[in-house]
Amino acid sequence: MEYEAVIGLETHVQLKTKSKMWCGCANAFGASPNTNVCPVCLGMPGVLPVPNEEALRLTVLTGLLLNSEIPRRAKFDRKNYFYPDMPKNYQLTQYDQPSTLGGYLDFEFEGGIQRVRITRAHLEEDVGKSTHFDRHSGVDFNRAGVPLLEIVSEPDITSADMAQAYLNALKDVLSHGGISDCDMEKGMVRCDVNVSVRPKGTSELGAKIEIKNMNSFSGVRRALDYEIPRQIAVVQGGGKLIQSTRRWDDIAGITEEMRTKEDAHDYRYFPCPDLMPLEPSDEWIAGVRARMVELPLARKQRFMRDYQLPAGDAEIFKNDLALGDYFEGVARGAKSPKAIANWVINNLQARLAEANDRRVAEQSAMGLEAEDQELLTLAALKFPPVAIPELVGLVESGKISTKIAQDVFAEMFETGEQPGAIVERKGLVQVSDSGAIEVFCDQAIAANPGPAADFKAGKVAALNFLKGQVMKLSKGKANPALVGDLLERKLKG
Ligand code: ADP
Ligand code: MG
Ligand code: ZN
Repeated sequence: MEYEAVIGLETHVQLKTKSKMWCGCANAFGASPNTNVCPVCLGMPGVLPVPNEEALRLTVLTGLLLNSEIPRRAKFDRKNYFYPDMPKNYQLTQYDQPSTLGGYLDFEFEGGIQRVRITRAHLEEDVGKSTHFDRHSGVDFNRAGVPLLEIVSEPDITSADMAQAYLNALKDVLSHGGISDCDMEKGMVRCDVNVSVRPKGTSELGAKIEIKNMNSFSGVRRALDYEIPRQIAVVQGGGKLIQSTRRWDDIAGITEEMRTKEDAHDYRYFPCPDLMPLEPSDEWIAGVRARMVELPLARKQRFMRDYQLPAGDAEIFKNDLALGDYFEGVARGAKSPKAIANWVINNLQARLAEANDRRVAEQSAMGLEAEDQELLTLAALKFPPVAIPELVGLVESGKISTKIAQDVFAEMFETGEQPGAIVERKGLVQVSDSGAIEVFCDQAIAANPGPAADFKAGKVAALNFLKGQVMKLSKGKANPALVGDLLERKLKG
């Protein structure tokens, strides 16, 4: 019998707020242990939490971006358990009345658009972090109380590849939306992977096995690549799977059982008596709605549709917001958006990166820290955006060759001078006068009898060499198409 995998993901992301969820401590990564702490996030008796309104807004914004319903009443509950890195002995979370319900995420997958339904996104708080040394352990509470959003998917995912595509798409939405920096290295995104198997084509769900606390998307992929065949082998061998929790051992590349349902926690959830239920008003929700951004997939599709760009170009403009916005500013209403995209991607982007590499090297040498260094931005370019369509026009009208245009671009990037002015000043107008080009062709053939004979003998590639010689003689100004035609005509005589 053939089996298929069923996967649902619970993704935790740290929200991009200045302060923590219930107190004014900084929500910052990398500070010395236990420096961003106060009586509230240390769980001292008698303190009271004050909800961070920006975290509430970012939660609802996530719901809006994921096409969710925003319930008019939500609340916070205490999830009770003991853990050394959680001094209150409960975690505040939203149990049965979360701030967002339902929704879906669409993303590109295997040449089509895949939809994964979202169950809910609820707001909770992160816990501290334990570190185990040789003879003792330490706990850092800087992370305790950092706002954490948990986004739960329906079990709609059917493969490791799809899980990874979903996670990447979700991360794109959250970072584009300004909801989280999603820095995996800093542990800002973590996920629990729920996976079961069932006979292909059936609809009943198999026993859910949860792999806890994955902190990289590639880890999720590898864990699933191990776990799915493992489960299939068990059921095919006549065994029975039971609901359980497993841990991924990244070094050994295997999952191991941690606990089964029998010893499952009873968290004794109850509404937190220190916090009022949330009842967002129309006005408040409208304020959050005003912060909605175009989703990355929609942006990519729009670039492909409105500017007839290939998927690769649109993908670049989807990922690099500033570059995409710059392109749009130039291409809107222009005749050749694809040619403009080529200049923006192949030339502008590359030169900007080069210029910034230089700046970083110089400023680092001067002793400036990364955050104090000034980089060249698209807004500070020397040439105005219209220079790009102007350059495209010069090429398309045959006035300059593509090759010369590269030099013109380099010059306008450095000095800001208009492309037309550069062409005039340096006399770069392409020679399309066949009389003048013919003279160069004759010279090239006379100086290179070998290649000329090769071409006549049927070696087609020899023509390129001769073409190159003519271009050189013309200082790059000859119209290359014309050069090819003339050479061929002369040699075939
Ligand atoms: P819990 O209450 O234990 O957290 P939930 O029913 O809320 O479990 O589901 C948690 C996650 O597990 C969700 O992402 C859901 O889609 C997924 N899930 C639930 N049942 C299964 C199953 N049988 N196989 C795979 N994933 C599942
Ligand atoms: Mg769970
Ligand atoms: Zn605090």
